Amino acid sequence: MQPLSAVVPFLFRGRDFFVKRDDLIDPLLSGNKYRKLYTLIQTPARRYRRIVSYGGTQSNAMLSIAALCDQKGWDFHYTCKPVPEHLKSSPTGNLKLALGLGMQLHEVEHKQFDAAIASLGTPTEAATLFVPQGGADPIAQAGINVLAREIKAWQQAQGIETLHVVTPSGTGTTAFYLAHALPDVAVLTTACVGDRDYLIRQMRMLGELPRNLRILENEKKHHFARPYAEFLALYRELKEAGIEFDLIYGANMWHTLLQNIDAIEGAILYVHSGGLMGNETMLDRYRHKGL
Ligand SMILES: *Cc1c(COP(=O)(O)O)cnc(C)c1O
Repeated sequence: MQPLSAVVPFLFRGRDFFVKRDDLIDPLLSGNKYRKLYTLIQTPARRYRRIVSYGGTQSNAMLSIAALCDQKGWDFHYTCKPVPEHLKSSPTGNLKLALGLGMQLHEVEHKQFDAAIASLGTPTEAATLFVPQGGADPIAQAGINVLAREIKAWQQAQGIETLHVVTPSGTGTTAFYLAHALPDVAVLTTACVGDRDYLIRQMRMLGELPRNLRILENEKKHHFARPYAEFLALYRELKEAGIEFDLIYGANMWHTLLQNIDAIEGAILYVHSGGLMGNETMLDRYRHKGL
């Protein structure tokens, strides 16, 4: 079968990498969100009428589900915590795009949020599907398996014996199922949301941690989705070298990978996880900070 994305060589800081260009599959349904939503993309439109989900208002998963629902003609209801006035009156970035795709936003006060999510999680109609935050759901496995098969076929065609596959983690769903499907490959990731323990807890909800999965640690603690001068510098350097990555997950993964690079022997395949649509709002925040 024809792979959904190409693998390209990428020379960076004098070392040879390969990058799987999942960012080029679809502009909105990009990167690992395309893979995680693959089962739903293949589902006939008549199967559902409504998708419900929740999370942050600049989330890449939110935008991807909005694009999917727009294509399928499904209603999309998204629950979030109260949105700041300025953002409500003039939405930016992923929020603006998702609202433009027909997403219906439901704000819930912090105190009532957990209860609201719990009731979303148990839909009473068969035509309504609940997708957990970030698409962290067993439904993602089939699409990640397709990615794994593409990687396996590429590895065999290249005759690569020792392979490391690198991709950043939010919920860890992508890295978890990739490691599961590629037992002979070392899957390297890093925790971009919360710390290592948080990531392990998230992954354990999907099953026992595969032994070939390694969580690399950054020497410096970075908070999720905040601007850091070192991330911006690396983002620019990577872009200069030929590939744009996202400023939240990609910059963090590369920063962490480069700290650990001397200990990694053999070929490295970086799976581009997409998310470029979010760079616009992140670059605005960097400008605001004077960086
Ligand atoms: C969502 C996302 C991730 C995290 O994926 P998980 O499967 O939740 O670990 C990584 N990179 C980008 C660009 C994303 O949008």
